Amino acid sequence: MASNGATPAQHDGHADEYKNHQFPPGPAAEGALVSSRQQYDEMHRESIADPDKFWGKIAEDFVWNKLWQNPVRRFNFDVRTGPVKIEWFVGAETNISYNCLDRHIEAGQGDRVAFYWEGNDLNEDCTVTYSQLLDQVCQLANYLKSVGVKRGSDVTIYMPMIPELPAAMLACARIGAVHSVVFAGFSADSLAGRILDSRPSVVLTASAVKRGAKPINLKGIVDSAIKKVEAQGHSISTVLVYDHALAAKRTDVAFVEGRDVWWQDAVPRQPTECPVEWMGAEEPLFKLYTSGSTGKPKGVEHTTAGYMVGASTTFKYVFDHRQSDIYWCTADCGWITGHSYVTYGPMLNGATQVLFEGVPTYPDAGRAWDIVDKYKVTLLYTAPTAIRALQSFGDKFVTQHSRKTLRILGTVGEPINPEAWKWYHEVVGEGRCPIVDTWWQTETGAHMITPLPGATTLKPGSATLPFFGVEPAVLSEKGEEMEGECEGYLVIKTAWPSCMRTLSGDHERFETTYFKVYPGYYFTGDGCRRDADGYYWLIGRVDDVINVSGHRIGTAEVEGALTQHPQCAEAAVVPVEHPIKGQGIYAYVTLMVGTEYPPPAQLKKELVATVREVIGPIATPDVIHWAPGLPKTRSGKIMRRILRKIASKEEDQLGDTSTLADPSVVQTLLSMRGQ
Ligand code: ATP
Ligand code: MG
Repeated sequence: MASNGATPAQHDGHADEYKNHQFPPGPAAEGALVSSRQQYDEMHRESIADPDKFWGKIAEDFVWNKLWQNPVRRFNFDVRTGPVKIEWFVGAETNISYNCLDRHIEAGQGDRVAFYWEGNDLNEDCTVTYSQLLDQVCQLANYLKSVGVKRGSDVTIYMPMIPELPAAMLACARIGAVHSVVFAGFSADSLAGRILDSRPSVVLTASAVKRGAKPINLKGIVDSAIKKVEAQGHSISTVLVYDHALAAKRTDVAFVEGRDVWWQDAVPRQPTECPVEWMGAEEPLFKLYTSGSTGKPKGVEHTTAGYMVGASTTFKYVFDHRQSDIYWCTADCGWITGHSYVTYGPMLNGATQVLFEGVPTYPDAGRAWDIVDKYKVTLLYTAPTAIRALQSFGDKFVTQHSRKTLRILGTVGEPINPEAWKWYHEVVGEGRCPIVDTWWQTETGAHMITPLPGATTLKPGSATLPFFGVEPAVLSEKGEEMEGECEGYLVIKTAWPSCMRTLSGDHERFETTYFKVYPGYYFTGDGCRRDADGYYWLIGRVDDVINVSGHRIGTAEVEGALTQHPQCAEAAVVPVEHPIKGQGIYAYVTLMVGTEYPPPAQLKKELVATVREVIGPIATPDVIHWAPGLPKTRSGKIMRRILRKIASKEEDQLGDTSTLADPSVVQTLLSMRGQ
């Protein structure tokens, strides 16, 4: 593949041009696990041609109680030939908690730091080694057993980002209990819905948490959720409450006699040894609900062995992980990113990581870079929403800090607009750190389309190429596979190890949502373009792609163009009915921090002109709607379906808004209509 080796400094034009710039790995290839495009190509080819051999060899690095039978993989994706079924490492027995902890300690790595914990407020921190974590995990696992949790039991975890959260996940996994982590920011209603879906008898929580300046009474939320659950006939026998003294006084916390137990009173009394349950490869590991960007969240189920191998292998290669690295992923364990790339992937690799409880803009927008310098972070993994938020405060918060240890930068969650990519690359990474733009889903369990930092030439805004074992295809409207350069629906042709196995209690919905749309394929729900070099560009969800006079325009492309304007901090674009064009483009625009709403009328003209210049007149926005805030899920993704309703004046039909981070943005948006 040709590479012009463009340096960012040469660039001063629009996104269009920037998107076509290419960034070869350069020094990142030195000593990398995969250090050339040719090596990647060979490994990818092997992984597709002979998955048994490829994954079987990788799996040898883990500890198994019993080995698998060949073939390593058995699956049916085609509803026409029978039920959809996915199995990996059939017949094998392992334990992921053992592989995350005991294995490293047995190899003499017990004193390695597992977590540098950084609290919400400055100067609150602690260090946890692998040995210390194993002790905690065993004590908690023993406690869970003492209150009746067994192999196959469901346990709901509603906790802040303290070391006890990943420890709780590993304790469940140790004894074969199925965890369901619910982001500790969800309302009592959302928590109740998730408890009713998985029906645990034990809930793990904390007294409270401070997120930025705001204290959140977690225990109070759990209490009201349990009331709702009880009204539906389900009861909870034990609530284990971590006394988070930094966020609340113990004496202020209401307790239900006989049900509620203080973590610090009960857990440390337990023995620090707890033998693992050897789990069948296909026994469930966890349930997790999707973000709810497109509707009611789906309860995705993952199993043991395939997930373990997938999460671990992607972490290792995508971050080119080395023992000397300090890794920091800003995602909460309540999301799949926190499962695969805080708890499991890094720990399976014996990584040392930063676990951050707070928000990157508190007490000010320099906090993230403070943390990078304090712990000498080398690998940073975050989301476009966080990048754009930090960018909107200006460069000085970043440049005040050294950041010299940073080696690789990652992003996940949404398509990253080229302007944010450029800022991440040039300002944050000073042009020296490759950006791994990782496309994947709760359902896929692990990275699917992503660069490898030592091998892949980057193009800003493209997630680039499939990971090992991933066979993507692009389908036309009619469901035909397209070759070469094309645009359409992204599907996956064959099973990969960390693929979800079903939706909680609803295999039919699983088949309908993912396998009936285009029989024979896993349907991702995302639209994408493949360029002449075979690179994948995610352009938005299928429902969001806009059809203007017969031209398909991706929301991500128009948003990327709008953010090229220096005063535009963030944009969200949706289709709206148009009498002539079929669909028109309706754009919501958030301005840089410090701008007053509504801004001078001229700005709308400038924004429209920017889009026309970057993409072309076909993408001219019909409406610009000022958005001091955008409706986002609690994981920071824009909920375009709400924006579609507002655009078409159907705000009385917003649908499920339980996963909305700040419901008040809807009112503010309505007040800006026509401004
Ligand atoms: P729901 O399925 O409930 O609507 P969701 O799709 O937001 O919620 P997740 O599983 O958290 O739930 O997110 C996966 C989706 O996020 C992908 O399908 C894709 O739309 C988007 N996404 C994730 N990473 C990227 C990326 N690097 N580039 C583009 N899009 C991404
Ligand atoms: Mg989804």
